[in-house]
Amino acid sequence: MGFPVQRRAWGLIPEEGKMPSSAKAFMEYVVAKNPGEKEFHQAVEEVIESIWPYLQQHPHYLEARIPERIVEPERVILFRVPWLDDKGQVQVNKGYRIEFNGSIGPYKGGLRFHPTVNLSILKFLGFEQVFKNSLTTLPMGGGKGGSDFDPKGKSDNEVMRFCQSFMTELQRHIGPNTDVPAGDIGVGGREIGYLFGQYKRMRNEFTGVLTGKGINWGGSLIRPEATGYGTVYFAEEMLNTRGDSFKGKTVAVSGSGNVAQFAVEKVLELGGLPVTLSDSNGTIYDPKGIDRDKLEYVMDLKNIKRGRIHEYAEKYNCEYQEGQRPWGVECTVALPCATQNEVSGEEAAALVKNGCICIAEGANMPTVPEGIDVFLKEKVLYGPGKAANAGGVAVSGLEMSQNSMRIGWTREEVDGRLHQIMKDIHSTCVKYGKQEDGFINYVSGANIGGFIKVADSMLDLGVV
Ligand code: NDP
Repeated sequence: MGFPVQRRAWGLIPEEGKMPSSAKAFMEYVVAKNPGEKEFHQAVEEVIESIWPYLQQHPHYLEARIPERIVEPERVILFRVPWLDDKGQVQVNKGYRIEFNGSIGPYKGGLRFHPTVNLSILKFLGFEQVFKNSLTTLPMGGGKGGSDFDPKGKSDNEVMRFCQSFMTELQRHIGPNTDVPAGDIGVGGREIGYLFGQYKRMRNEFTGVLTGKGINWGGSLIRPEATGYGTVYFAEEMLNTRGDSFKGKTVAVSGSGNVAQFAVEKVLELGGLPVTLSDSNGTIYDPKGIDRDKLEYVMDLKNIKRGRIHEYAEKYNCEYQEGQRPWGVECTVALPCATQNEVSGEEAAALVKNGCICIAEGANMPTVPEGIDVFLKEKVLYGPGKAANAGGVAVSGLEMSQNSMRIGWTREEVDGRLHQIMKDIHSTCVKYGKQEDGFINYVSGANIGGFIKVADSMLDLGVV
């Protein structure tokens, strides 16, 4: 009893039965309850600030304490992942799965293997996932997981032993009707294969427990392409609202992994000119354009040889900007496809100054709050990740449907559904985000549109 009373005396937890009076007061509550989790605070603040006016117009959500409930994960699983490296030495990593919100379907969201992974990062990603999955219109709850394991520089055997150890614990918490993980940073086809192999061995069942599977063993066509393609489809919809398209547009892309590669592929198909790619060491700037042959080289370099992006600059004799991100170049469209907080306030201002009119986020939360403020103030087209990159999880949802029905759709069928889902997400953003002056605030649109379905389901399910 002492603890909550003391907290209330500090004014951090709203008194029982009383609603927080403002978005700011609510954020004070969130920060006090989740100390030190700065990425999680950032993700919650973006949502709460934009949905607060809607909540005030619909106070039944506040009365039922939906905001307090929706920021608390349903379950957080933390575990030890011991494994043997190639020298026979024991290594230990942390494993996580956050089952954030299951009110509209089984938990669904990727696994990230990267040394920066911690509870705050995974809670921010899991929270975003709840709204994103709701926007797709498919029945998927939100989750996220991963490890501070770094696959970079590890042999295939080391990655396999790590994945087997990780799944040995995770398998007891997941299942095709409970929680269905997928890939994210550091988790691609190779890792999903090792994870699926271990699940199958331990549970003796061949089932749709992971998505992003290989096409021979239950995967869906277009899943590898889905996030990048979807981001570009979404950007095309945004450009269409101003009577414009990708045709002839110079496009800056960050990252050089799964999302970035297929974003470049779709930009080329739609007639745009991608001029940058990056990794955590630097950026290549190729003003002549990254064409299909060059993209093929990048795919081989990154997916097979596991090399660094500066090798592109050496091969094609273009500029390499060591330690830089791509946002200083001239471009009309920007697609951040690497990681969180990779577009600063100053970089956002530089983009707009250099002629950028459209930003669609392939990555999750790549733009810092000051950068978002710049884009909204300048009234450029700004598509936040939870809407723009929802194509990945949408096709994961389609992979689950195909697994349940034990059939496989054609490329055209899956791509057609993905395209339609991205158009529908865009319409939802317009419905809830269009302002009186005609400007579409995609941040509000995505947050309110994603919130309503989850919140209404939580009300229907009672206090659970
Ligand atoms: P990959 O691991 O395939 O690629 C990640 C890319 O981003 C690499 O080029 C990597 O460079 C770079 N990167 C990673 N961390 C950093 C960092 N701290 N600073 C600079 N660059 C960095 O991951 P994905 O392409 O799958 O994911 C990229 C983004 O897209 C993430 O934000 C992810 O959450 C998001 N996303 C992914 C989905 C998917 O289906 N895969 C779905 C929806 C969103 P390096 O090799 O040097 O680490």
